[in-house]
Amino acid sequence: MTLAEKLAALVQFKTVSFFDASLEDDSQFAGLLATLPELFPVLHSHAERMVLGDRAVLYRLEGSDPTQKPVVLCAHFDVVPAQDTHLWDEEPFGGAVRDGYLYGRGTQDIKVQMTCQMEALEHLLASGKVFSRTIYLAYGGDEEIGGVRGAARIAAWLEAQGIRAAMLLDEGSPVADGIIGFVQQPLALIGVAEKGYMDVILEARGKGGHASMPPHHTALGVLARAIVEIEEHPFPAKLTRTTREFLDALARLSRSPYRLIFRFRNLLAPLILQAFTRMPSTNALIRTTCAPTMASASQKENVLPDIARAVINVRIMPGETSREVLERLNSLTARHGVSVHVSAPEYVIEPSAESSTSSEGWRMLVRALAISHPEASAVPFLFTAGTDTKHYHKIADDIYRFTPLIQTPADLNGVHNINERVSLSNLERCMRFYMSLLEQC
Ligand SMILES: [Zn+2]
Repeated sequence: MTLAEKLAALVQFKTVSFFDASLEDDSQFAGLLATLPELFPVLHSHAERMVLGDRAVLYRLEGSDPTQKPVVLCAHFDVVPAQDTHLWDEEPFGGAVRDGYLYGRGTQDIKVQMTCQMEALEHLLASGKVFSRTIYLAYGGDEEIGGVRGAARIAAWLEAQGIRAAMLLDEGSPVADGIIGFVQQPLALIGVAEKGYMDVILEARGKGGHASMPPHHTALGVLARAIVEIEEHPFPAKLTRTTREFLDALARLSRSPYRLIFRFRNLLAPLILQAFTRMPSTNALIRTTCAPTMASASQKENVLPDIARAVINVRIMPGETSREVLERLNSLTARHGVSVHVSAPEYVIEPSAESSTSSEGWRMLVRALAISHPEASAVPFLFTAGTDTKHYHKIADDIYRFTPLIQTPADLNGVHNINERVSLSNLERCMRFYMSLLEQC
């Protein structure tokens, strides 16, 4: 079977995860796990396989040198639903190839990564490679809904064994082609840190009653003022270590005048922060962001609301805490008589630590890229979305979030969207990256 056929085989399992577990089809998840030994027989004859519940599988390949710390490669085998299936050029769970592209859910996020990691090991083991480091493959089946049954269980198992890895690599930003405006060449954006996550509820109370004799401000009006207050007072912009290193890399790679601006980043920080604030994609790199996403008030057109609520989706900058963020939101909204509280404390995720860019793990990634993607430069990056890595912070010295797929802005559009697809050449190079990485282990 070819690499593309193996990925297509995994795409065909409808491993769609939902917060409402009753909507999930357990047989699809079990089917996917059961098919892996057929797809990757050499790996399965060499590695120990541990199934830790129905949404987690962990592989262990014993290294020959116990003094060297292990390496953990992660991915997830659940996917988001495929809405608007009639708009797709190919079936979202068909695994069809058309014009050099393999279509389907998971071809970018992120069955592609799982397939390429396993196939890389398949090749290396078949060629007789002996690893000095122990290698773990850690795959969860519920990343899209928080990773509690998947990554969290695997992390708990690893922690209980006292395992401390040199490096853990999970999905993340891509080899960006034309995504970062200041640079012409592709950039391998390696996520060395990840923002935190919190949903906050704003609540305004009023007096219910008939809408024909309203007060000057209904509960909904008061709530709206508080929302505007938050939008008009964004969190302070700052350059974290990751962003400073990102700018240093851009100073080497970008054209003038950016080259000079980034080189003098300390002196010109106010200018850079102002420029980054203008675009949502760069604004997210320099501050905690607040997105009002949901609102509710009266159930009926002519009835005054006695309570109005809004949800603010917050992404927290490394170096800040959910508590500090909540305090600031409180100070902004209290004068309007609007209360603030966390929607679901169990889903609050604090921002990650910032991983090293001088570790052996980082150097391994750079050396692998030099072989698989020599046209791209490795650049440290702040990953603004969430991954399973939030569960793994106790078991690795350094955590990186990177998916070795070349992505243009158009390609990125396919993630969680219609026509998710990967080109066959991109797929091949993705596998090449993991081979080059694992060859160093
Ligand atoms: Zn993903």
